[in-house]
Amino acid sequence: MLTGVTYTRKARDGDSREHSYRVTRCHRNPYHRLWKPGVDVVAYPDTGKFGYGNLVTCGSTWHCPLCAPKITEYRRAELAAGAARVIGQGGEIVMMTLTYRHDADMRLADSLDAFYTARDKFFSCRAVKETMRQVEAMGRVYSTEVTFGANGWHPHLHVLVLCEKRRDDLVDRLETLRGQWSRAVMKSGLGKINDHGFDVRNGDYAAEYIAKYGHEPAVFAWSAAHELTKGHVKQGRGGNVTPFDLLGVLATGKSVSIGNREIGPDDASDLFREYAIRFQGRQQLVWSKGLRDKLGIQAERSDEEIAEGDGERDVIGTLTLDEWRMVLGYKNGRGQLLAMLGKHGRSALPWIIESLKKAKPNHPDEPWFSEEKKFVGY
Ligand SMILES: [Zn+2]
Repeated sequence: MLTGVTYTRKARDGDSREHSYRVTRCHRNPYHRLWKPGVDVVAYPDTGKFGYGNLVTCGSTWHCPLCAPKITEYRRAELAAGAARVIGQGGEIVMMTLTYRHDADMRLADSLDAFYTARDKFFSCRAVKETMRQVEAMGRVYSTEVTFGANGWHPHLHVLVLCEKRRDDLVDRLETLRGQWSRAVMKSGLGKINDHGFDVRNGDYAAEYIAKYGHEPAVFAWSAAHELTKGHVKQGRGGNVTPFDLLGVLATGKSVSIGNREIGPDDASDLFREYAIRFQGRQQLVWSKGLRDKLGIQAERSDEEIAEGDGERDVIGTLTLDEWRMVLGYKNGRGQLLAMLGKHGRSALPWIIESLKKAKPNHPDEPWFSEEKKFVGY
């Protein structure tokens, strides 16, 4: 998917270095291990499912259809716990949505930084700070999302404002900040906002948003990544698609129509690259400073830690590096092996491996495979 794609990041010494995306190695490259080289096949007693161990997990919410659902589900549970606490203490949560007007010719490269600048200008301006004080906001949670539609990329920011007390005029008070957002967008070079550029909704919407958070990418773990290759391409709301939907176009080879455009695999690939580069390194969900402490929500775990998981697992076997390379030689071989284990049980592992050895690889150009040292980073 992102083979050969690199991004540039400034190092501490000021030099820019090229890095390859860690997602290209996710659930693919084993870690170097002296005592028992290879890839573990594991069973999760809690769920009865199977998976792999000793593999790189990229922990990218933006790029990885395998890691993203795990991370967003964890983040959603945290958010729901925080929200429950606010409501339980007699508070209320309001949801603001901020965006700007974009058209099909606008590149993400030109608009995304400006959008973040507008956000910072907005939240640091005096009127906004004063209003937040008046509504007794305990803090905010920011969630950046992006879809692609007839008018090009549509980045938008949902801001949950967690208020100490329930009061009738919360939405109206926050509504008064439309002018401030409009000015911040204008000053950041993104032109005039339209009606949809600024939106404030009450607690019911905030609750619905939290409940659905992270369910947008319609891909869950291996089984559903499987589904993605079977031709499931979901249309986003209002004819917009999500970046993972674009991956679906790539996986199935089936175009999707967006506005009056047919997006085929080549376009989808270009668009996903544009998105991947621009969102690399950004945080998807951000809690304002001190909010976690106020709500007694535990210290933050990194996306990578969440993606690695800490559930109980039994190692039921270890594939040698050659065997693993063989699995990678089949299209969706990793998913298929797990599906076969699910069907025939853990004792079937040895014969599954034997039958793999007899079959003919149908994905022999598997491009990347190497062992890596743990914690090398990007
Ligand atoms: Zn990943």
